Amino acid sequence: MASKITRRDFLNGMAIGAGASLLMPGQVIAQASGSLVSKTLPGDYYPPTLTGMRGSHKGSYEVAHALAWNNQKPAHYEELDEHYDLVVVGAGQSGLAAAWYYRKKMGPTAKILLLDNHDDFGGHAKRNEFHQNGRMVLSLGGAQNIERMSGYSETAVGLLEDIGIDQKALDSIAINTPDNFALAGKISANNAMTIPSTEGHKTVSGNWMGYFHGGEGYKEAVKELPIPGIEQNKLIAFFGGERDFLDDLSLLEQYRYVKSVSYNQFLVERVGLAEETLPILGSFMSILNGPAGWNHTVLEALVSGCPGLKAMGWITNRLSDLAGAFVLGDAPVAYMLPDGNASVARLLVHKLIPNVAPTMKGLEDVAVAQFNYTALDLEKNTTRLRLNSTVVGVKEITSKYVQVDYIQKGKALRVSANHCVLACYNGLIPHLCPEMSKEQKEGLSYGVKAPFVYANVLLKNGRAFAGLGATLTQCPYDPFQWVSAAPTMTAGGYQPPQNPDQPMAVFMMASPTPADVKDMPARDLFRVGRHKIYATPFKAYEQEIRDQLQSMLGQHGFNHETDIAAITVNRIPHGYAYSYMGLDDPEWEEGQAPHEIGRAQFGRISIANSDSEAMPLMQAAFDAAWRAVEEQSA
Ligand SMILES: Cc1cc2nc3c(=O)[nH]c(=O)nc-3n(C[C@H](O)[C@H](O)[C@H](O)COP(=O)(O)OP(=O)(O)OC[C@H]3O[C@@H](n4cnc5c(N)ncnc54)[C@H](O)[C@@H]3O)c2cc1C
Repeated sequence: MASKITRRDFLNGMAIGAGASLLMPGQVIAQASGSLVSKTLPGDYYPPTLTGMRGSHKGSYEVAHALAWNNQKPAHYEELDEHYDLVVVGAGQSGLAAAWYYRKKMGPTAKILLLDNHDDFGGHAKRNEFHQNGRMVLSLGGAQNIERMSGYSETAVGLLEDIGIDQKALDSIAINTPDNFALAGKISANNAMTIPSTEGHKTVSGNWMGYFHGGEGYKEAVKELPIPGIEQNKLIAFFGGERDFLDDLSLLEQYRYVKSVSYNQFLVERVGLAEETLPILGSFMSILNGPAGWNHTVLEALVSGCPGLKAMGWITNRLSDLAGAFVLGDAPVAYMLPDGNASVARLLVHKLIPNVAPTMKGLEDVAVAQFNYTALDLEKNTTRLRLNSTVVGVKEITSKYVQVDYIQKGKALRVSANHCVLACYNGLIPHLCPEMSKEQKEGLSYGVKAPFVYANVLLKNGRAFAGLGATLTQCPYDPFQWVSAAPTMTAGGYQPPQNPDQPMAVFMMASPTPADVKDMPARDLFRVGRHKIYATPFKAYEQEIRDQLQSMLGQHGFNHETDIAAITVNRIPHGYAYSYMGLDDPEWEEGQAPHEIGRAQFGRISIANSDSEAMPLMQAAFDAAWRAVEEQSA
């Protein structure tokens, strides 16, 4: 235990040393004013088309870091003549949902203010929009897809239906998603494996999700990989289930084993794979969950869809449905819109502030509708959404109202409200509300969000990319471990590129969480990954992207110097809500888990956001919002 604390302190110190120590007190807040903020937004303000470093962009994080690291915030605030029924901190899916639930319950005259530190709304659900040769090319800057409705609570389904997303609409999106588009859950689509070789990257096309589970052609595909023959043979035996790698253990011992041993340890010790081979099996988990195989139990890895189900007798039986789904290509469907869940955020914003897109009808044109950001924060709106505004203090005053302090354009401002919902990050809440109990603060501070980097690269045409023979390929040895075409579904009024001669976007995903570190809890690795993100300048990402794409696509006629039209890097240092890991976390009794203790109502302040559900999914963000609004309107 002692060494755990030491390591964590060391990591925290590393992050602080990299950022705050370079700044004198007062400088941090002034620095944030260097963003694009103005009190009223300029007429051409439209962040989705901005390129370069996006996501956690300059001006969005400095104020919060000064508060969290150095307890630094202004002593005085200008009191605005603004009082609201509800102030929501954070305009991600949870904050937007909280505003909608509150308005539905209290009526359309309820006065609501949403504050967000970014220059765009949506939180993780961000839109990247390009224009090239008269065509709009859309992609995701974060949260990707809508899960099956059966996994949503009644209130979350109600919200989706309010914004026009019901099962019929989802079915229509699925039908209009090409069968070859693997990223949108088309599990039988080709998804390739790309591995560096002496002659540049070698891409072996085929259905690797199927090959992982002994799907047709797996032996031939593995034999094509540029790795030693002995490793090929081990992978073939493992994927095909040629033997049960736990057959010396009793049933009970097997059960304990898969719940307590890391997936990578199993692969090395039982399957006999060399550590150099592990990324081939692990990039899947890194992109899906954040950490790689040293931080997942065998069971967690298998449930995530990693290979091995066929090579463990009893588990194959227990989880045969899942195994069958992957092998036969009938895995759960995820529904995707052309800009991912950013369209869900757009629909919510439109519902709250219709004037932002007066001619937009709904789901049928959400992807192409023009959004007028200057309408977000007008005095006449009953709901106002204020961007570029970092909240630094939320305080209940004599149980009568809440005072909310924030910084916008370097100015320290104060509004008041009857109620406040914190739909921001759990980790920051103790700094916003220092009056909270030690126990609640510890609960809120326990989880660490998993960092990610999503880049989009606009190509003048898609000819070289078509040479890969798949719309998605895993690149386990590269900085960006998954590379896909940007969404190609015809949905929300969007017409994706029609043929390889047209411009396209390449969507590249990276998990910066170290994949090769053993015996370090995932939460510490997330801190390392987050630090890496903040320490990496755009130029470095650009170089990595150019090098990776050139090596992958050069053999198909690609020239990065002439074929790339734009690059957008969405860095997401505070990504997925922390969900408990079998190797790191105890099994708490109901009500005793840190997120449950942390999310307790605090007078006129309630806590939403997906962190408060310890689940990195949109349905969790909605459920948290519902709970928070119920608390405040009871
Ligand atoms: C890369 C990635 C991919 C994902 N893919 C999916 C997916 O495919 N499907 C799915 O269901 N879920 C996905 N998720 C999970 C996603 O987190 C949730 O779906 C949901 O978007 C979370 O919403 P939220 O409002 O809880 O948090 P966030 O989206 O993080 O929103 C919180 C907002 O509060 C702001 N904020 C924080 N502090 C302050 C402050 N002091 N003042 C003002 N504002 C503040 C933040 O900057 C942010 O804008 C993904 C997440 C990531 C990171």
